[in-house]
Amino acid sequence: MYNVSAMTAGCLEVSLENWQQMKAHVQSVDPREACGMVSGRGHVSEKVYEVKNVAAGEHRFRMEPSEQVRAFFDIERSGYDFLAIYHSHPDGPARPSRIDHEEWCYPHVLCLLWSRDAGEWICKVFAYSTEGFNEVSLCVPDNASDILSSDQAVAREQRTR
Ligand SMILES: [Zn+2]
Repeated sequence: MYNVSAMTAGCLEVSLENWQQMKAHVQSVDPREACGMVSGRGHVSEKVYEVKNVAAGEHRFRMEPSEQVRAFFDIERSGYDFLAIYHSHPDGPARPSRIDHEEWCYPHVLCLLWSRDAGEWICKVFAYSTEGFNEVSLCVPDNASDILSSDQAVAREQRTR
């Protein structure tokens, strides 16, 4: 069920629709962390599953188990692969935390992390390794680049810094 092609390709392509859905979810639960799952094929996202965060405390996330299982079944049925888990760090940092690493249960699944840069939500993608998370590229389809220009320009600029 796990597909490593997004990791071996070194990038994840997120559709405009998926991007906007995640961002809206992240904003709607702020200042709590949002969490959810992303399915797709190869290194291209197809569907976002918003999952309730049932973690006690503010600076962590735990996906509500029954919602997570429902998402797993839906991914299985759809024939797509489980590509990524997304969550947010409303107060930073812009990379996965030590706890994220310790509790990461899906080594072949990418970590899509939303954080804020100068008040604007940005999204970065990381691949798990036993030593830590390594950032990989996030790209958007050509037809979405104009619409996402402000958000993604920030993300792109940060990557090349
Ligand atoms: Zn985290």
